[in-house]
Amino acid sequence: MKAVVWTGENNFQVQDVPAPQFGPAQILVQVHAAAVCTTDFHYPEFKCVPPIVPGHEAAGIVVQIGRQVATVKVGQRVTLDPVQRCGRCSCCIGGYGHLCLNTRHLGDTDIPGGWAEYVAIDAQNAYPLPEDVDFRAAALSEPAAVCLESFLRGNFQKGQTALILGDGPFGFIHAMIARILGAEKIIVAGHYKERLARIEAKTGALTCNTHQEDLASFLKTHKISPGVDLAIEATGATAAPNLGLRALRPRGSLIIFSLVWEPEILDLGLISMKELNVLGSCRSLKCFEKCIEWMSQGLLDLGDLVDIEAPLEKIKEAMDLLKTDKRNRFKAVLLPQM
Ligand SMILES: [Zn+2]
Ligand SMILES: [Zn+2]
Repeated sequence: MKAVVWTGENNFQVQDVPAPQFGPAQILVQVHAAAVCTTDFHYPEFKCVPPIVPGHEAAGIVVQIGRQVATVKVGQRVTLDPVQRCGRCSCCIGGYGHLCLNTRHLGDTDIPGGWAEYVAIDAQNAYPLPEDVDFRAAALSEPAAVCLESFLRGNFQKGQTALILGDGPFGFIHAMIARILGAEKIIVAGHYKERLARIEAKTGALTCNTHQEDLASFLKTHKISPGVDLAIEATGATAAPNLGLRALRPRGSLIIFSLVWEPEILDLGLISMKELNVLGSCRSLKCFEKCIEWMSQGLLDLGDLVDIEAPLEKIKEAMDLLKTDKRNRFKAVLLPQM
């Protein structure tokens, strides 16, 4: 079958590779859409070992099932949770299997991902997709599920105010979900006026371009006092976590969602004096079903983020465009059956 293979450094190429083997509790899925994630640009930094078939945001049709599989049928449309769990470790038994100590994550070394004609995955990681959710949008159900998890981690309630640091795809999706959850106010802080304009138009968020305006004075102008209930760090930028801390009300919560490559020391005085919560959130425990339901109801329109659609052969062009035209492109989706 055809698959995109990461061969080291920044090299991604289409190769002919054997179709993946699948175990008795697994299924084989014909991939119809697979998205490019920001993390896919960082294989060298994550010290992954090539060759790897990337792709952890994917949707398609089940074409074969293992002999133990009773929950999924051949022909079923599905979207995939890339975090395969062992079911036996302390995290799995403790009820937070998304942090499984023996995780087999699609697109990691030795676990071929979805940038291919076919992908194999544990049957329990496949979520049925209603007919009215198209594959292109469904491929983004993993990023949506992990964004919803941020709000659950932060115990976000209807009528509260959310600050989202970052105007990338994760900033956009967090803002969409804040709206669905009934946020009183949503503030999105970022650098790109084109992105902020799209986020504002779609979600009704107040947007702060931090290259032009200081976030603290922006919040003051908009009478957000004594601060936001929840701040979500979705930029990976050095200074962002402290910006989030400063924006919080007493006993507010900061979610560290992105991987901050060169973190600043957190303002511990602020954490202590305002009794703030600082929590990490990076995967979905059980948020796929809710996101799929919202997509089916037309509440969560993830297709709005898809600015590039390409066959597998155009992976390099798609990734280049995401980098060079970042301000106008949120997500690229590969269509392996195209
Ligand atoms: Zn991702
Ligand atoms: Zn486990």
